Amino acid sequence: MIPPTHPRYRSLLERERVVEGFREGYVAAQGLIAHGRGECFDYLIGEETQPFALEAIKAAAAALLLAKHPVISVNGNVAALTPREVVELAEAVPALVEVNLFYRTREREEKIAEVLKRHGARRVLGVGEDASCTIPELFSERRRVSCEGIYKADVVLVPLEDGDRSEALRRMGKTVIAIDLNPMSRTARAASITIVDNLTRAMPKLVEAVKAMKSYKRQDLEELVRGYDNGKTLAAALRHISKRLDELAGGLDPRNA
Ligand code: ATP
Ligand code: MG
Repeated sequence: MIPPTHPRYRSLLERERVVEGFREGYVAAQGLIAHGRGECFDYLIGEETQPFALEAIKAAAAALLLAKHPVISVNGNVAALTPREVVELAEAVPALVEVNLFYRTREREEKIAEVLKRHGARRVLGVGEDASCTIPELFSERRRVSCEGIYKADVVLVPLEDGDRSEALRRMGKTVIAIDLNPMSRTARAASITIVDNLTRAMPKLVEAVKAMKSYKRQDLEELVRGYDNGKTLAAALRHISKRLDELAGGLDPRNA
């Protein structure tokens, strides 16, 4: 048991959830390592949603609401950490849900679909033969997607995606929304909209934003998307980290006493 007073209580519980997903066989071993990389960046960011992430969440909600064919891509870590929010978001937009794995196995696909269905998902794409369309320029199992889902999508939400695939989806002309704690990753830089925040904080906020903005005029949603600049978001995230580290260093430096 982790005591609730532990300074990393939330972080440790989330780590346990990913480990549990690994034990149940739907989180890849590589997913455990990816989670650790995320934890490190969350530490640097301060483990709170920052203004640049809120701005990206608004733009993302607008893009999802404007989409003709929005799809939410789900991998093992996403299924372990925010299965309920994926289903809520899919209902609220409404959007399709697709299992999309970097390390595909039939077993993991089915287990992830099962987790999502347990949380209320009615239809889950990307399992077995359903993932028979291919993303051009990618190799092996990594390129397989559902013809009804990501292949056809105009807007794809890819929480925790890999750089190559994000770039390939952009080249296919899609609007890519990423959730990635690392503002320097290729995913963060390739995406149209990057939410630099922990998936576990960003997903509930994205659901709320979609619900709140459903009544907005189309024109206002379009304005939000047009006014958004991803380079500005990533620069703000890096400056935030840099400023925070500088302040922390200042507090430790005896010359400031
Ligand atoms: P890229 O392929 O985009 O260049 P990478 O190779 O550095 O990125 P990967 O190992 O492919 O990284 O994927 C892990 C990414 O997911 C990291 O950027 C990490 O910060 C991010 N990540 C992991 N867990 C979370 C989380 N809970 N919330 C948000 N981002 C996360
Ligand atoms: Mg990568």
